[in-house]
Amino acid sequence: MKRVRCPKCQNYILFDETKYKDGQSLVFVCDECNKQFSIRIGVSKLKATRKEEKIDEQENKEAFGSIVVIENQFAYKQVIPLREGDNEIGRFNRDTNINCPIETTDPSVDFRHCIINVKRNKNGELVYNLRDAKSAVGVFYNNDILGNKEQVRLEDGAIFTLGATTLILRAAEQSDNNE
Ligand SMILES: [Zn+2]
Repeated sequence: MKRVRCPKCQNYILFDETKYKDGQSLVFVCDECNKQFSIRIGVSKLKATRKEEKIDEQENKEAFGSIVVIENQFAYKQVIPLREGDNEIGRFNRDTNINCPIETTDPSVDFRHCIINVKRNKNGELVYNLRDAKSAVGVFYNNDILGNKEQVRLEDGAIFTLGATTLILRAAEQSDNNE
């Protein structure tokens, strides 16, 4: 799969490039803004897709950790760094004003779906708490849907799902000194 970005609204559109030949022109209609545009397969613009980028799941381990979005039919694998405080997670769109947008076409992922709060406890250890952000389909953790005001603590490697999209928490490495 490859992706193109709508020139009008920046929405991503995924397509299966193996169905087409180099040099062939494809016409897309953006499902966000209905803009029609065309691309040609095999031109340089298409080469730099996420698929070929080297993805390092540990890249943010010394800061506040990250979430890994598992590749599925709607999205490439992505690693999204977390920060201290509330990390708002949802589907990227042109009006995105959340701090952890996922580039995905999964319609079951809301534009603002869930929140991971990162904070230090009394011992200086980072604590990760997941809660739903009033999403349409909810947030599943350990095969249970999170309740309305429920908050669950996530440990490193915790797996949770938003619709058809699965995410893994990669916690930061805890340092032994309490600076
Ligand atoms: Zn568009």
